[in-house]
Amino acid sequence: MDTARDVIIIGSGPAGLTAGVYTARASLKPLIIEGLSAGGQLMLTTEVENFPGFRNGIMGPDLMAEMRAQAERFGAEIIQGNVTSIDLSSRPFRVVAEDGTYTAKALIVATGASARLLGLPSERALMGRGVSTCATCDGFFFRGKPIAVVGGGDSALEEAIFLTKFASKVTLVHRRDAFRGSKIMQDKALANPKIEVAWNSIVETINDTTKGEVTGIVLRDVKTNAVREVPVDGVFVAIGHTPNTSLFTGQIELDANGYILTHDGTKTNAPGVFACGDVQDHTYRQAITAAGSGCMAALDAERFIEG
Ligand code: NAP
Repeated sequence: MDTARDVIIIGSGPAGLTAGVYTARASLKPLIIEGLSAGGQLMLTTEVENFPGFRNGIMGPDLMAEMRAQAERFGAEIIQGNVTSIDLSSRPFRVVAEDGTYTAKALIVATGASARLLGLPSERALMGRGVSTCATCDGFFFRGKPIAVVGGGDSALEEAIFLTKFASKVTLVHRRDAFRGSKIMQDKALANPKIEVAWNSIVETINDTTKGEVTGIVLRDVKTNAVREVPVDGVFVAIGHTPNTSLFTGQIELDANGYILTHDGTKTNAPGVFACGDVQDHTYRQAITAAGSGCMAALDAERFIEG
């Protein structure tokens, strides 16, 4: 394999693979280093109903397999494994992966963000089977059903309010007696008759792993130690996201929350390094917006190389 490349794309979610399709069709022979979570967050979902072009919906892993095959069809090379370090101090950039060292004239960072999880075995077992980290993606499936949202920040408050459009009742589970989210969001959530807050509560387990579907959550009151089960059909974990940017600390400008700062499209403060998808977006976080920014990064990288 040629180790001196025009473009290296780090990450293989919708942003990275779309950047792969575009740079491959521009004859830049991109190398995509897929990362540990190959395919990104959509690999954790079941049905995706809001990605344009699939009127009957498509399973998340199937959508990613299509994108991958599409990038490969135009000549993108995809290798497994993680990038362990990068050096942006000289050109071409050096990218050290598990299987060797590569150089690139331009780098597209599409390493995404990881939803923080509670860390329960039942949460892992039921992910995509009633447990979700994306209300926009999965809320629709819970029309007329009781659900729970876990968290006390703006994301949890926003998701709880959004989910009342579908759910019959939303139990908002927060581990303390005060929300972290903004006052306006708190007021909205507390005024919503469909939202009931379980204060000072943590999720001990999600039932029912033996059935392979969510039937309820077991909550423990951290002050009284009282345990109770709340019947729900879905659980939305909204305790924040962590951008996957540890590789870039000190080399690319990040915001206070660790997301890559971009300007004029997908440019970072390092010329020749472009960022797309959730690693630089904590607002929209959709597959389609990630794919859109992957296209932008590819066009920006192409112009940079031509220039
Ligand atoms: P966040 O502000 O970090 O809040 C995370 C919440 O989850 C906190 O309430 C935290 O509890 C709870 N939590 C964390 N780990 C937990 C665990 N293991 N078990 C149970 N609960 C846990 O994250 P975010 O809500 O995603 O917001 C991130 C940033 O985006 C914030 O700056 C936010 O303002 C912004 N945002 C803004 C909007 C908006 O303006 N519309 C919408 C979404 C996000 P504690 O409070 O006890 O720490």
